[in-house]
Amino acid sequence: MHLQQTIRKIVHCSGIGLHSGGPVNLRLVPAPIDTGIVFLRKTAKGPVPVKVDGTKVVGTLLCTTIGENGTKIQTVEHLLAALSGLQITNLIIELDSAELPIMDGSAKPFVDLILKAGIQAQGVSQPVLKITRPMEVKDGEKWIRIRPSWKFRVNCTIRFDHPLLAHQSCSFEPVSEDFVEWIAPARTFGFLEEVEALRNHGLARGGSLENAVVVGPDGVLNKEGLRYADEFVRHKILDIMGDLSLLGMPILGEVEAYCSGHQLNTTLVSEILSSTDCWTMIKDGASAVPMRPSADSTIAAQVS
Ligand SMILES: [Zn+2]
Repeated sequence: MHLQQTIRKIVHCSGIGLHSGGPVNLRLVPAPIDTGIVFLRKTAKGPVPVKVDGTKVVGTLLCTTIGENGTKIQTVEHLLAALSGLQITNLIIELDSAELPIMDGSAKPFVDLILKAGIQAQGVSQPVLKITRPMEVKDGEKWIRIRPSWKFRVNCTIRFDHPLLAHQSCSFEPVSEDFVEWIAPARTFGFLEEVEALRNHGLARGGSLENAVVVGPDGVLNKEGLRYADEFVRHKILDIMGDLSLLGMPILGEVEAYCSGHQLNTTLVSEILSSTDCWTMIKDGASAVPMRPSADSTIAAQVS
């Protein structure tokens, strides 16, 4: 059974937005039972709440953006991955900018912040979403699938036209493996030739070797090198964990992804939410609606 958890005390950090390049202050505030994960963005008109419940994805260009009534919050995926990996289910996230701080490009600074606050078990079961039929979302050769399982597991493979990233594959099971050690420190990455193009589009203004791994023709430009030989695919797993947590509750299912990114990941979230015959919600260890047997047929969706 999953239990609801929050943090023990308020903690805060500051940084810059990867895309905006602007400063942002972030505060994590303990939240009562059944709050869920709620962003609270300070605006000139006062704080505006945006609850994470899967229905609010408004952008996936290089990061995941959620929003409600015109209030946008950009680059949510790394903090959400930290909350997923540490199984924090109730939290208020206050911020004074439209974009979360990129920190070092990984989820580790957020994990460190949460561990500094301490994790508070709340003694109440957390509803979980159990996948009961396979689903798949495709975009050309790229895809992400989820199939029934009593565990949450992510398998990911990436291929890029670069010798360093020609093929990387990794599998991770958050409950039995150590998210803090194996996934959280993996940083976001990009290719040198893309940086100029991104900046021309007003993106990655805050990007630097301090918060991203940059891959040039002859290898990684960061002096410190890689944190893991397969840091790239580990970061993709981190992104998938963050994006799937937009469902608003933990998920039981085995994910398999091939060259997937934020668009495919969040499309899978939308498909899951709209395909109510493909999952059941479990609370207190019991299914809230009758469980259906797994079907061989795969629900497939095409990203246009
Ligand atoms: Zn990322």
